[in-house]
Amino acid sequence: MGKSTRKWIGWVILALVGLAGLYWAYRKSQPANPIGDEEKFTQLRMEMVEQTILARGVTNPDVIDAMRTVPRHAFVSPEYLDQAYEDHPLPIGYGQTISQPYIVAWMTELLELKAGEKVLEIGTGSGYQAAILAQLGYVEVYSVEIIPALAEQAEERLRRLGYKKVHLKQGDGYYGWQEQAPYDAILVTAAPDHLPPPLVAQLKEGGRLVIPIGPPGSYQTLWKFVKQNGKLKAYDLGGVIFVPLTGGNQSISPSAIP
Ligand code: SAH
Repeated sequence: MGKSTRKWIGWVILALVGLAGLYWAYRKSQPANPIGDEEKFTQLRMEMVEQTILARGVTNPDVIDAMRTVPRHAFVSPEYLDQAYEDHPLPIGYGQTISQPYIVAWMTELLELKAGEKVLEIGTGSGYQAAILAQLGYVEVYSVEIIPALAEQAEERLRRLGYKKVHLKQGDGYYGWQEQAPYDAILVTAAPDHLPPPLVAQLKEGGRLVIPIGPPGSYQTLWKFVKQNGKLKAYDLGGVIFVPLTGGNQSISPSAIP
């Protein structure tokens, strides 16, 4: 081997070592890729509960346990997996979103659910909120979704994850779910511009109704209503942002949503 060939081989080896070093440094600088990494997801979920759910004042231990248990990453689209445990809503297609984790926890707590009670959710969406309710382990969960494809996907997902007892229906939740009424609690995860009378009618005496009400595409007010002696006691819980409730006699129809 000539002197210059050896020199060349030396340079090539040096270059390869250099490239390997650069690649290693690059890998180290990248956030760990959580895809397919259940342990990493569990860790992110625990952090989410500490940093947003507990830090912002949710105290119901059953709700906190459910938030620690339900795998939110199984409810988001693959392209948003890396944001599954961030405290904001994420798109689920059809112009809809999976709600922000803190709001899910807070609304669940507001329902003050007791063992054996029946709860109705309007707006199944991804099925995440329904899974949280089912994970409590002591309530019967009913959920209605107006968009057929989302209703189907949520059903498939909830069954696959083992939430087999959740009762699901595709339909217009403005009218509640009359056949299964009355309910101890109702939560609405899309915002109508007025309180739908059928939901009030399907609420038991002593029942709780948690619902955002306001104009579509703007802030709404989150309300908690409690039925006492046939009348509603109203509690204003402040500003929230939800996708609009369609159907019923709302001015917006599902096909108007991109
Ligand atoms: N609870 C959901 C959040 C979904 S966003 C989750 O945890 O992922 C609100 C959902 O309400 C959307 O899926 C939307 O299609 C649905 N929705 C809107 N109007 C509705 C109506 N009239 N009846 C039933 N569902 C409705």
